[in-house]
Amino acid sequence: MAHMLCNCGNKLSDVEYPSPNCIEFFYEKDILQALSADPNITLWDFTSDYDKGTNIWFCNQCGRIYIFDNGSRMWSKKYRKLDISDISITDNAQMSKFYILSDVDIEKVCTDNEQITLSKYFASVMKPNLYFCDDNKGTIYAVNPQNNNVVYKYNIED
Ligand SMILES: [Zn+2]
Repeated sequence: MAHMLCNCGNKLSDVEYPSPNCIEFFYEKDILQALSADPNITLWDFTSDYDKGTNIWFCNQCGRIYIFDNGSRMWSKKYRKLDISDISITDNAQMSKFYILSDVDIEKVCTDNEQITLSKYFASVMKPNLYFCDDNKGTIYAVNPQNNNVVYKYNIED
C-alpha cells in the first residue's frame, strides 16, 4: 500500500485494487510453458501464480515504468517512454518477448469471464496487441506484431 509521485507530477498509488498504476510483464516463454503444462489453465490461475519478484508501476499520464524489487520501497529501475516510428525490428531472436497487462485489464477480463483460459485470452487478446522486446542493454521496444514496426520504446532513465 503506497503512493509515489512520478517525475511528471502524476500521483501513483496501489491503494485501490485494481490500480491503473500496477502492471505485470508476462514473458512469452513462460506463457508457452504454462500452456504446455496445462492447456486449460485459466487466465486467473496463471496471472495469480505469476511472480517474477518485482512490482511494476506505470504512470498513466506519461507512460513511465518503475520497477521495484519485491519488498523494496525504492524503485531499482525507471524507464522513460519515447515515441518513435518507422523503425522495424528485424533481428529479435536474442530478445525476450513479453506482454504487458495491467491489473485493471486482468481484473476486468476475469470478472467478465471467470473461466476464461490463458490459451483463449492469449490467442484473442494478447497476441494482436503490442509485444515488447528487451535487448538486455536497457531498451525495451514496443512492437506491432503485424509488421514488426516499433511503435515506441523505453529507455532507462536515471
Ligand atoms: Zn508520469
